[in-house]
This record gives sequence, C-alpha cells and structure tokens, in this order.
Amino acid sequence: MSRFLSSKYDELVPYVPGEQPKDRRFIKLNTNESPFPPSPLAVKYAAEAARSCQLYSDPELSSLTDAFCAVYGVSPSSAVFSNGSDDMLNYAFMCFCDGDHPAAFADITYGLYSVLADLNRVPYTVIPLRDDFTIDVGDYCGTDHTIFIANPNAPTGIALPVIEIERILATNPNNVVVVDEAYVDFGASSMLKLTEKYDNLLVVGTFSKSRSLAGARLGYACASEAIIADINAIRYSLNPYNVNSMTLAAGIGSLEDDEYNRANCSVIIENREYAAEELKKLGFTLTDSKANFLFARHPDFSGEQIYSRLREKGILVRHFGSERIKDYNRITVGTRGEMQELIKCLKEIIGQ
Ligand code: PMP
Repeated sequence: MSRFLSSKYDELVPYVPGEQPKDRRFIKLNTNESPFPPSPLAVKYAAEAARSCQLYSDPELSSLTDAFCAVYGVSPSSAVFSNGSDDMLNYAFMCFCDGDHPAAFADITYGLYSVLADLNRVPYTVIPLRDDFTIDVGDYCGTDHTIFIANPNAPTGIALPVIEIERILATNPNNVVVVDEAYVDFGASSMLKLTEKYDNLLVVGTFSKSRSLAGARLGYACASEAIIADINAIRYSLNPYNVNSMTLAAGIGSLEDDEYNRANCSVIIENREYAAEELKKLGFTLTDSKANFLFARHPDFSGEQIYSRLREKGILVRHFGSERIKDYNRITVGTRGEMQELIKCLKEIIGQ
C-alpha cells in the first residue's frame, strides 16, 4: 500500500478470486466456469465486432437489449448491462445502500457482497444461515435493509423457492431486494418476470456461467423502469462504455443461439446428478445444489486435505477457510470425463 492511498480504504480487504493457474494444466473445477466453449455465433459476432473497435461501443446497448428482451420477455426499459455481474452488484451497492439503507446478506454467501459493502462504505448486517445452510426467510421479513440474496446461493448451491422470495419482497416494500441469479439456469426458478409485479425487486444475472462467456464479462439487471434509470445514472457517470463492442456482439450471438446454451445446461445438470451420486457412494455429504457446482464434505478428511490432494493429482477445486464451511469443497461441474476423473482421484485419496 503506498503512502498516497486514501485512508478511506484503510479497512478494505480485497476480494480473492479463484486461482487461474498458468504454470500447469489442471482439470479446473474451482471457479464455476462452463466446461463448454461459447456459442459459435457469439464467437463469430465478437470477431466481426473486433474489426470496428476503433469506435466506442454503443452506450445505450440497444441491440443487446433488444436481443435480451426477445429471449426473456421483459421490456427494454427494464434491462441494463454491465462488465460482468460483479460490476452490476457494485452499482446496486452504490445506488441502493447507505447509512439509512444498510445492506443485509447471509453469512455463507458470495464473498464479494461484504467487500463491495466495505468498498462503498455501507454498513451491513450478516444473517446466519440455519445449520443446514438454508435461509430462514423470517430473518429477512420486514427489515430496513437492502437485501442481497444469491439464488441459488453460493457456495452451497441451495435454491429458495420463488414464493419465499416473494414474501421477502412483500414485507420490505421500502427496500430494494437484490436477487443474484448467477446460477439460476441450472435448476432454480428465475424472478425475472416478477420485476413487473414488485417495484423493489432487482434481479442480477450473468452470461458467465450458463452462457459460457465468463471471459467476455457480461452481466445484466432487470427491475422496474425507475430502478434501471437509477443504475443508468450511475453507469453513465462511471463508465458509459462499460460493455465493450466485442462483448456486446458476443452477448447478442449467445442470445440468438439460446438453444445451444440450454442444451449445455442440461448436460451440466446431468453431470451434476451423476457426480453427486458417485460422491455419495464414496461417503461424501452434499448440499442439494441447483447450481453448476457441488458442495461436499467427507467425514474422514478435512476440506483442506481433499483440496490439496486433488491439487497434487491435477484437479483444482475451491476450498474456503472460513469456520462454518472449512470442511467442504466447492466443486464445479465439468464434462462427464472430468467428473469421472474427479471420482477416480477421490477414490484413490480416500483409499477405496
Ligand atoms: N454472483 C455470484 C453468486 C457468483 O458466484 C459470481 C461469480 N463469481 C458472480 C455473481 C459474478 O459473476 P460475473 O462477474 O462473472 O458475472
């Protein structure tokens, strides 16, 4: 830290992203990327767009918005895009949280929420999940907080039914409820259409997971026209060209090729169920994941042991050191071959 950094960042502990190894080839099951490449149409459109990137990208994001609305059936004034959904989550903290509207989120959830709260100097309340890592919806009813819920949650993969989130929305009419749907396409129900019913609902999503575009960085939000106007006011003030031309084009290609992405999601869901069954046979306990990852612990080995022995064998998974979940590993669901290799290595590790 230089002696010039503003003291407002004295307390900031930066988010630590999952490892992106460069030295060695791993089976990479640590950052919930898709094992499949992006749609060929997305790649084609992005390559074409690269030819004219001497020009700024369209700050209104019109063609992407139209393609998005055609797929999701929402109105153009209720959607906005960002440089990955992390960027959108930051807008949400900037727009809807302050001393009068502190943030609230679970103790076990996406680690970026607390970092963004600190970055924006927003006070926040951490709400513990139940012992089985489910949300007690009652904890979120009638608060005076801006609520952040990942649905399905990360790293547990557990999904909340829409009706439960509606209870939270209905009992917090004066606060924004942010539903982070990064993993929704792998088996949970989306709240997207409910943005027409609840003017306090902000749904955030990403093209990183189910659309295989993590490296392109494309996120979205859907909400009432007024909320989207708020986000656009901040977006235009911070970086009106926050979505670059290649990513914008890739997004359109991905949306036009929706069938390709949906087929990949189905394969990932099948591979998740296959891997979950095999892990159970090996004695692992798992949460009921509706995401593209599994969250698993073994009674005889610590989370750290499983993590490092898999690493020695060339498989990277994600281990979190925090007390409540240190016995677990989060394992991204890959191809069937990758899952078979995972199970083979785990059999060796646990001596079966
Ligand atoms: N929300 C959740 C719950 C996530 O796990 C992630 C991925 N790290 C994101 C949002 C952000 O994804 P991206 O910025 O790639 O859209």
